[in-house]
Amino acid sequence: NRRTFCCHSRRSPAVFTALNTVSYAPETRRRRTFAIISHPDAGKTTLTEKLLLFSGAIQIAGAVKGRKASRHATSDWMEIEKQRGISVASSVMQMSYRDHVINLLDTPGHKDFSEDTYRVLTAVDSALMVIDAANGVESQTRRLIEVCRQRNTPIISFVNKFDREVRDPLDIMDEVERELGMPCCPITWPVGQGKSFGGIINLRTQSMTVFTPGSDRGPKDFEVIPLSEGDKLRARFGKAFDDALESMELAVGASAEWDHEAFLAGKLTPVFFGSGVNNFGVMEVLDAVVDMSPPPGPRVAFTEVNRQRAEVTINPEDKTFAGVVFKVQANMDSNHRDRIAFVRVASGKYTPGMKMKVQRTGKELRPTSVVTFMSQRREAVDEAYAGDIIGFTIHGGVQLGDSITDGPNLQFTGLPFFAPEMFMTVVLKNPLRTKQLQQGLMQLGEEGAIQVFKPDVGGNMLLGAVGQLQFEVVQHRLKTEYDCDVRLEGCQYTGARWITADSPAELREFENAYPMRLAHDAADTLAYLCTSPYDVRLAQERFPKIHFHPLREHA
Ligand code: GDP
Repeated sequence: NRRTFCCHSRRSPAVFTALNTVSYAPETRRRRTFAIISHPDAGKTTLTEKLLLFSGAIQIAGAVKGRKASRHATSDWMEIEKQRGISVASSVMQMSYRDHVINLLDTPGHKDFSEDTYRVLTAVDSALMVIDAANGVESQTRRLIEVCRQRNTPIISFVNKFDREVRDPLDIMDEVERELGMPCCPITWPVGQGKSFGGIINLRTQSMTVFTPGSDRGPKDFEVIPLSEGDKLRARFGKAFDDALESMELAVGASAEWDHEAFLAGKLTPVFFGSGVNNFGVMEVLDAVVDMSPPPGPRVAFTEVNRQRAEVTINPEDKTFAGVVFKVQANMDSNHRDRIAFVRVASGKYTPGMKMKVQRTGKELRPTSVVTFMSQRREAVDEAYAGDIIGFTIHGGVQLGDSITDGPNLQFTGLPFFAPEMFMTVVLKNPLRTKQLQQGLMQLGEEGAIQVFKPDVGGNMLLGAVGQLQFEVVQHRLKTEYDCDVRLEGCQYTGARWITADSPAELREFENAYPMRLAHDAADTLAYLCTSPYDVRLAQERFPKIHFHPLREHA
């Protein structure tokens, strides 16, 4: 083709090469994938909705109400079951804003489902922490922070509910700094609070955005007055304004300067103030996600080279499609046993019809559908890049932590499983349903709803959980989805450790010593069950070369 030839021939060789190799970098660079974390009731649902509203992903407030499903007391469990479809669709949301593709991941608020939350945090590149300004950093937030800290996940902080009588912002900032163990950098600063709440000062633009209550305002509907018009602001907001200037000065003096690199390294958090329910201070947060939060970065995986395990770095723009399953959820329709495997894309490009393998089994993945999650609906995926979350509808053969690629064998690590702290044995009321029970437990175990252990020597199946509510969920789901009526009975175990050994001989010796204490979990990993912490200590003393792991990382 002559025209093309002429066109190329005029360009430099470097440009010519660039034209001939597809680079996914422009796509991956404009992606932001973050989790929203908070203690229940801090305002996570409200803020999520406003972010969707301001990005244009939804038109009216109130559209995200089904999300409440992720937070519940035991008694609403039945109700939650009904709403599960909505919660599936809304636990991941994609929106576009300022030419960026933003993937927002919700995290369950209830502490009994904290394992789920930890796994969600492995799938994101940053986190948005919502704090109730009256309560400061609360217990649930504390645990989540720990996980972010371990992974050096950058955190943006949003202090919510300034339209109420709340704590002094300096006091809150001090607490965030202490709890996070990292310096804060205020980006906005509140003027007054509760009845005297006048708005927020934007330290960067040196202007004040005036607060007006109401939940139907768009981002541009708030009045903005430059700080240079100090007299005007003073006349309007009186003492609250002067006090704000004073405390802001103190805050700036006492806090760190903005340092983007430090933020990206998880060593500094920008702090925003506002009122989610009033759409106030939300735009600033949405802009921060685009301007401050990182695009997808490289991820470490393992592969086999000459039968040796070798570490490889997977870059987002690599051509090979690779992703990891961080969540598996049963589908809403209980007549179909299909499930959705949520995959975080780590590299390459997904296109419909492409051939992919589950690396653990080497089997081809044949999903019945592949979807992306748009606030309230699922849509077929046309294409997806690193950072995106896509859902594969499958019938089985996929577990939490599985790596999926269209290329060579590789396995991502880092998806955590925590040793359960509570155990129950499962007693089936109708023995004719044994097969269904096994299938149900296997699937629920693969989903990570509960951990399932099969004792090596006889006995009933054991369920292990981190939170009590998990047992109730599983009992209920076994009945409704698998028609298995089960009784859960307490047992003597209070903990488990996953076992590895340096040599098969050592492992055999250990197995011979504790035949009654050993079990295999849903991923077929050997575990040692204990009845007290002393148990582990004694066993460890007796077998110093055996490794007892309180945490199992998939791979
Ligand atoms: P979540 O449990 O963290 O998802 O919290 P929600 O978003 O459901 O909010 C909990 C409660 O706080 C709800 O009644 C909200 O209406 C209320 N709320 C959220 N944001 C604000 C705010 O900025 N000001 C006030 N006064 N209430 C808020």
